[in-house]
Amino acid sequence: MAALWAGKLTASLSRGLRRGGGTTLPGDVSRWVDPKILTTLSRSLDQGAVVVTGTNGKTTTAALLRHILEAQGRRTVANQAGANLIYGVTAAMVNRATWSGRLNANVGLFEIDEASLPRLVQEIAPGTIIVTNLFRDQLDRYGELETTAAHIRRALVKGPEGVTAVLNADDPMVAALGDGLPRVVYAGLDDPTLLQPELSHGADAKFCPRCGSPFVFDGVYFGHVGHYHCPRGDFARPSPDVRATSVAIEGMERMRLRISDGAQEADVVIPLSGLYNAYNVVLAIAAARALGVPVARSAAALRDFTPAFGRMERTMIDGRPAVLLLAKNPTGFNEVLRTAIQFGKGSSFLIALNDRIADGRDVSWIWDVNFEQLKDAAVHIVVSGDRAHDLRVRLKYAEIPADRIEVVSDWRSALKRASASTADGQTIFILPTYTAMLELRAVLTRDGALQPYWQGRAVDAKP
Ligand SMILES: [Zn+2]
Repeated sequence: MAALWAGKLTASLSRGLRRGGGTTLPGDVSRWVDPKILTTLSRSLDQGAVVVTGTNGKTTTAALLRHILEAQGRRTVANQAGANLIYGVTAAMVNRATWSGRLNANVGLFEIDEASLPRLVQEIAPGTIIVTNLFRDQLDRYGELETTAAHIRRALVKGPEGVTAVLNADDPMVAALGDGLPRVVYAGLDDPTLLQPELSHGADAKFCPRCGSPFVFDGVYFGHVGHYHCPRGDFARPSPDVRATSVAIEGMERMRLRISDGAQEADVVIPLSGLYNAYNVVLAIAAARALGVPVARSAAALRDFTPAFGRMERTMIDGRPAVLLLAKNPTGFNEVLRTAIQFGKGSSFLIALNDRIADGRDVSWIWDVNFEQLKDAAVHIVVSGDRAHDLRVRLKYAEIPADRIEVVSDWRSALKRASASTADGQTIFILPTYTAMLELRAVLTRDGALQPYWQGRAVDAKP
């Protein structure tokens, strides 16, 4: 109780001082008073906890699953995007508990970075663990992908009895994590019309985990995610239990997926775009199914889903429509760029690169991003953030004419310039790294275009 009260007082003070939503500090304080507080609180979740991990898509997958579960009348407690270290999870539980220690929720839904997963699993014993994908990300923080996979594998193997792993069948490294586990649900895409013939630049994990032979890819959806098999025949893409048999992307506005689990088929219409989001949808539906929600009910629930903050969040900037697309690593960047250009017909961009700890201090990863995609598409690009000049150099090597690139350091001016340079009927595509996104959102929030991130949703701002 002392730990809980200390945490809740910290949260109140933090909000009172307008220090943001108090997303992790109450967790730090509570854990300092009682290191077992998270375990104690999580015992009162009568339907257990779900943990989402992986490089990209954690926030959206967790938000989709939360939306599905709440539509079934289940009360969820979830950590906020970005607060996905163990302190953020603790803070979420402390904030949700009453002063008398009652947790007014049935099910916990937590996104966690790969390195913190083993510890979280030990503390809360989740019933379900979702792994979205594994890409190179912030090497200065987590080291190589193999190390990351080993962290997750350890958590899955040592996890509580009865844990269900919900895995992306189309990412070879993630699929391999399910090897020999008693309860695995695979999710994937089975729309051959969207498969591309070759691996894109900077793709990871192209080797068989059993024998080390290079995989043969029958096709990829993006990066190293697709349909693959080992030429020696000892490992192949698992057949998905829950699959999207067709994915139709309609601009930036929405996409339609036909989802099947063999027994049931249902159509999902959702205000998201991009193939990477198709994965988030099938993974969320697969996890919901593992929690007893039939596919058709999940599909129906997703009709009124609203994107999580900074993930395809829409707003208006000086009368121009804008979309925020968080882009924090090469694969994520490639996919949001591709989505903006291919499906959003994007020509006006604001790209913001920061190099704080949460972004990764080393920004050399921008050389793995396929900015060459912008060469024919971009009419105007505002670059901003701590490392705007690095970004400008990168764009120069992508052969984007210098007169289409503008460096603007101040956030508000950058937004204004991007808006002023956008033609009528066009959308501004804002692609920030993590802390750049928080800072840009803070400006947009002060201007009334968005709600503070701890309140969750974007305001439906009309001009
Ligand atoms: Zn092999």
